[in-house]
Amino acid sequence: MDKPLLAIVIPCFNEELCIKETVDRLFLVLSDLINKNKIKSDSYLYLVDDGSKDNTWEIIDNLHKNNPLVKGLKFVKNYGNQKAIIAGLEAVKNIGCDCAVTIDADLQQDEWSIEKFIDKYMKGYDVVSGIRNNRKTDSFFKKFTALAFYKVMNLLGANIPVNHSDFRLVSKHALDIMSQFSERHLFLRGFFNDVGFKTAYINFDVKPRMKGKSKFNFASLTILALNGITSYSVVPLRLVSILGFSMTIIGIILGSIAVCSKIFFANFQHEWAIDFIMNCVFGGIELFCLGTIAEYIGQIFLEVKGRPRYIKDTELK
Ligand code: UDP
Ligand code: MG
Repeated sequence: MDKPLLAIVIPCFNEELCIKETVDRLFLVLSDLINKNKIKSDSYLYLVDDGSKDNTWEIIDNLHKNNPLVKGLKFVKNYGNQKAIIAGLEAVKNIGCDCAVTIDADLQQDEWSIEKFIDKYMKGYDVVSGIRNNRKTDSFFKKFTALAFYKVMNLLGANIPVNHSDFRLVSKHALDIMSQFSERHLFLRGFFNDVGFKTAYINFDVKPRMKGKSKFNFASLTILALNGITSYSVVPLRLVSILGFSMTIIGIILGSIAVCSKIFFANFQHEWAIDFIMNCVFGGIELFCLGTIAEYIGQIFLEVKGRPRYIKDTELK
């Protein structure tokens, strides 16, 4: 196999503090790989500004003017990091590349692992996924919720390795397949894992964020997790049916016990507390089930409208 033309895709949301240094550091990696004759010399960076409100775009624009190997696009608004990554991958596929690596703008992932990604690519892997060695830099809450998410996803059959990240290399072939999946809420970690690409895993140490603050909060992580689940599995819908059926059976059994008690133990008393608790529990379960179904209806609603995934404002090629 010939050495590849590599494109590095970087989603950026309010990253004015990081971008310059990130670009410098990634060019060091590119030069090193070019010197080692592992990638083509016109390999490039592609930065996607996910509707930043700070000077992120001005910085990207300047970097592009100084060096055309910095390319990028700007969204009209913030669409979230999955869409930014997808847009970057679609753009580099169109501009041209043999493989693309996605990495965060704060370089929390180890940029020097990209060499190992390329080595795996040269051995014929279509996807090389970065796996975090640990979550030392995450709060207890984030560690716990991330672990719970991966456990749930795996129970639902998505088989995503725990501590997976969006730090990965994908081949041109994988990009071509990705372009056939037009769904609006493509959850990349599920997608690249599910399609059946020849995949290698590389472990890396997570570094603390370079500068600035995390762009994810509880709400955006919940949305990401819910999209991940509802776009990848219908098992929760089946669980709702099973739960409904089980509750009916329990109801029939409890009803029978109540009738028998009334007939055979005349002094049997109804405890108001039991009534109340039962109402809360069953009411809660019903609402939870309705909510689960509503999540899927929401997904269908958004998909059926067939709106574009994102709208570009400006592009630097
Ligand atoms: N990001 C984005 N859009 C968003 C939120 C984040 O493009 O709405 C980018 C962000 O600029 C960074 C990457 O996604 O390059 C990961 O975000 P961050 O480092 O804030 O997340 P964390 O590492 O805390 O999970
Ligand atoms: Mg980060």
